[in-house]
Amino acid sequence: AEPNPNLTVVLHACLGVGHLIPMVELAKLILRRGLSVVIAVPTPPASTADYFASSASAVAALAAANLEVSFHHLPAPDYPVPNPDPFLQMLDALRLTVPALAAFLRSLPTAAAVVLDLFCVDALDAAESAGVPAYFYYTSCAGDLAAFLHLPHYFAATDGGASFKDMGKEPLRFPGVPPIPASDMPHTVLDRGDRTCAERIRHYARIPEARGVLINTYEWLEARAVRALRDGVCVPGRPTPPVHPIGPLIVKGQEAAEKEAPHACLAWLDAQPAGSVVFLCFGSLGAVSAAQLKETARGLEGSGHRFLWVVRSPPEDPSKFFLARLEPDLDALLPEGFLDRTRDRAMVVKMWAPQVEVLRHAATGAFVTHCGWNSVLEAASAGVPMLCWPLYAEQRLNKVFVVDEMKAGVVMDGYDEEVVPAEEVEKKVRLVMESEEGEKLRERLALAKEKAAEALADGGSSRVAFENFLKDLKLAK
Ligand code: UDP
Repeated sequence: AEPNPNLTVVLHACLGVGHLIPMVELAKLILRRGLSVVIAVPTPPASTADYFASSASAVAALAAANLEVSFHHLPAPDYPVPNPDPFLQMLDALRLTVPALAAFLRSLPTAAAVVLDLFCVDALDAAESAGVPAYFYYTSCAGDLAAFLHLPHYFAATDGGASFKDMGKEPLRFPGVPPIPASDMPHTVLDRGDRTCAERIRHYARIPEARGVLINTYEWLEARAVRALRDGVCVPGRPTPPVHPIGPLIVKGQEAAEKEAPHACLAWLDAQPAGSVVFLCFGSLGAVSAAQLKETARGLEGSGHRFLWVVRSPPEDPSKFFLARLEPDLDALLPEGFLDRTRDRAMVVKMWAPQVEVLRHAATGAFVTHCGWNSVLEAASAGVPMLCWPLYAEQRLNKVFVVDEMKAGVVMDGYDEEVVPAEEVEKKVRLVMESEEGEKLRERLALAKEKAAEALADGGSSRVAFENFLKDLKLAK
């Protein structure tokens, strides 16, 4: 359909690649329904260039690859003394961008709605001041959202109580989700005394102010959490806005492949037997220590299975995992002779692999993942069992849901210790590839794949949810 010049949906992104990719997909979905769309991207303050360097190049790459989507770069805010904590730096930068977003919304007489990334909660003020209805788009799972929406209530009810960081693996019981070991909560809410936690809780308490929440998930995968959100039991005492599970929105492998020559690993996969390859990849940022690379290598070699492994240089400072890194020197990083010994059954790729295509390839039999939500969705909709190895952000929480709720994977034990030993890597690879439990996982994932396709087909739950969102948006205008 021709874009409707009378209705423009403004999508307000944050700067993480894992958030931007599904936002671009949402933009394309809205465009296909004949509305106009513009993605309003914050520009990092000059003083924070380091932290945001990789995001800026990702925006450029996404814009180049999706010419039909327009991007509007909001001016960089003044931020003379950046907070030394990178996460607070991001939240500050987004909050300081609110006036620029408000001005942009006011300058667009056709703005019908603004859809906010979940990190951009303060942008509710921009929507309000411009008189434009606000929605959120949550690019992680419904389980996370159920837990986060409940947190302000939990903190108020346990005022003066222990912080999650001091509760070990004590299970937290929140509506709509399985018990969550306290130590698996995101690091941003572990210490109830610090500013990061206070900011997050303030944000979670504001989410219900929105007119609706889009989630990149599908109902079957997270039935209990979606029901709890719809029944309003996550946020006691006030109404929860309607939730719209519209996923899985995934970058289509073929679209990407048409633009560039296919990656060499795809030809390699073509030559491997069906379901025989273990794929290891840790998101757009994930990298592990040099010691861990060696242990992982030993474990993979010991397992005897075929594998495709995306290797990055170890971060110099693990707390700065977000910095762009140099290409890894495989000979120096991996055990001596490893590449030669595994040559006939393995491929090691530097930095980046076309993950969606790899997961959809018939040869791929298991996925060692950091549990970034895009990765989980891509695996679920490709029907590939997961070995969950969370690294940062909300990935430990996703791991809980993948393993305990979706029954779509197993845990790599030791993910919360310094190093996961080679023996554990070998044991879990064998478990998924060889055991009866692995067979059950494969059956479960085959069903998850079928249900993902159903959700996106005509009359499917995600299509209906998206229609409901569009109807509501037109009503609001
Ligand atoms: N990705 C990829 N190749 C890589 C690493 C990542 O294609 O080598 C893609 C992956 O398919 C996913 C996204 O980058 O779409 C990563 O998002 P996710 O939410 O899994 O993790 P994050 O990067 O946010 O930690």
